[in-house]
Amino acid sequence: MSGTEHGGIQIELAHIFPIIKKWLYSEKEIFLREITSNACDAVTKLRRLISLGEAKGIDAENAKITVTLDKTAKTITVTDEGIGMTEEELRKYICQIALSGALDFIQKYEGEGDSAQNGIIGHFGLGFYSAFMVSETVEVVTRSYTGAPAVHWSCNGEGEFDITPDYDVDDEIGSYGTAVIMHISEEGEEFLNAYKLKEVLDKYCAFMPVPIYFADADKPEEECECDHAEGEECTCQEEGKECTCKEPQPINDTTPLWLKNPSDCTDEEYKEFYRKLFHDYKEPLFWIHLKADYPLNFKGILYFPRIANEYESLEGQVKLYYNQVFVADNIKEVIPEYLLMLKGVLDCPELPLNVSRSYLQNSGYVTKISAHITKKVGDKLNSMFVNDREAFENLWRDLKTFVEYACMRDRKFYDRVKDTVLFEKCGGGFVTLQEYLEAAKEKHENKVYYATDATAQTQYIRMYQNEGIDVLLLDRVIDTQFITTVEMNGENVKFARVDAETPDVLKADGDNTEIPALKDLFAKVTGEHTTVSFDRFRDAATPAILNVSEESRRMQDMMKLYKMEGMGDFPVEATLVLNTASPLVEKLTVLCEEGRNDLAEIIARQVYALATMSQRAFTAEELTAFLTDSYSILDKLS
Ligand code: ADP
Repeated sequence: MSGTEHGGIQIELAHIFPIIKKWLYSEKEIFLREITSNACDAVTKLRRLISLGEAKGIDAENAKITVTLDKTAKTITVTDEGIGMTEEELRKYICQIALSGALDFIQKYEGEGDSAQNGIIGHFGLGFYSAFMVSETVEVVTRSYTGAPAVHWSCNGEGEFDITPDYDVDDEIGSYGTAVIMHISEEGEEFLNAYKLKEVLDKYCAFMPVPIYFADADKPEEECECDHAEGEECTCQEEGKECTCKEPQPINDTTPLWLKNPSDCTDEEYKEFYRKLFHDYKEPLFWIHLKADYPLNFKGILYFPRIANEYESLEGQVKLYYNQVFVADNIKEVIPEYLLMLKGVLDCPELPLNVSRSYLQNSGYVTKISAHITKKVGDKLNSMFVNDREAFENLWRDLKTFVEYACMRDRKFYDRVKDTVLFEKCGGGFVTLQEYLEAAKEKHENKVYYATDATAQTQYIRMYQNEGIDVLLLDRVIDTQFITTVEMNGENVKFARVDAETPDVLKADGDNTEIPALKDLFAKVTGEHTTVSFDRFRDAATPAILNVSEESRRMQDMMKLYKMEGMGDFPVEATLVLNTASPLVEKLTVLCEEGRNDLAEIIARQVYALATMSQRAFTAEELTAFLTDSYSILDKLS
């Protein structure tokens, strides 16, 4: 047997190149993010070296990046005033795929000063090649800050390159730095458009840490008559000269608000940042500035948007950044789904830029971020509740959909905020569940009464309120789903709609025994799905009410909500409760005893119809019958 041989997998550049072009990134526009973040890294590294005393006599304070579009030449050029590369570095980092200078740099300077990784974006050693997704040829002109001779590199789409050492720099770069000149191919043509290019820059680079300028070669800057120096303001207007030149402004904000200390940020700054980022002119309700240090290490600001109405999309927008470089919107794997209703930014430098979603799903780091955010959101709600209850109540209608939804999706969140969740009362005011139960302790222990429609259920509400029982108003679909969560979470409480049952406090002492004649009479008029029963109410003015059991009504609501096939006609079992304290019921009993059955039946139908009307809307047949009966009664009266 021959001996075992150790080897390394060989990569044939010409074969791997088309794969990179096609598969490296799902979207072509990413090339701009990659090349610009390399330029950013180049400046960050140079600044780091200066601060470590490794690069002397250089000032990178005002170092900038310029992205130039030249439509005529069909090029996009990214120029930086960063660290640059020597010929050796260029051969190592650019000519070899998957060799990352960023990683080398981090390893070399680890342990010196602050964390070497701090702020450096790259680390895969692949991003540069994304330029080929949109280019037929890519040129690099670079000169190291060390003063080593400049180098020129040019590579075609097949991966064949030419290197010119000791390159005679024209005006591509300054005394050090790098220009990446991309000769745009047919696939990248859409980017030879100033509007499109700026849009992509704005999307990915709006908060990169080095100022980025956009230049359109077809629109040269206007000559300024006063000939002011770079960085100085134009004085033409002061001198009465007509001049439209403006000092070019960077397209990015190098110190986004989330990096600042929350105590240094004003409300106005938070609102302004929100407006700029989301173009939403409705003020956010409030915000949370996140700043998690070791071991989580991420920052961000989350805003609670003002939702104009119930029907507005609840989809928010949480933008994920990696060291100030935009990665994606609404990454469901990082942010709990229910927090996606929020708007904001998260900067997670521990997440590699191009990570796959399945990686995110299984990452312990992501789980921790998620848990941290949930905790902060819960804490914020609790502190608002404790610190200014009135202000919190004023916000509640805007907040409650979010809070209820979040509670339904996440038990931990529910446990954190459950004492802060408010319920609105019919007739006004807010209570927590505990406050409600405490106040109701004597009358109906562990039972909460609610209405879903303050107008349609007004007769019941009035009966409850007359006996000093508060009725909660749960008039959104999500409210009724939320109470099921509360019940399931073991709060030892049951919710019942006002028409579900008649609580004892509404009942009066005295005879409430069944009257057989009336039972038979009403059984005839109500139909097979309604049972007739008897009770004595304190409110004598109401002869009968219709009760529908909480369980079967919720079941029916759910079936309607999910439009369950074939089950829509499921009949609801109801109980017609006749009030033995009602004078009308007494009279009806007498009519039966006297054998005046026709009249008794018309009245019984009318009583049933009115009880039904107080509980729900009529069906078409019911309405027709009710009108016919009413007219015949009027006829008899006249
Ligand atoms: P990454 O940025 O993930 O390390 P890239 O493929 O984008 O990988 O780049 C490879 C290496 O090439 C970088 O790590 C860096 O050393 C070098 N490089 C790329 N662009 C520049 C630049 N503009 N200035 C200096 N070095 C650069």
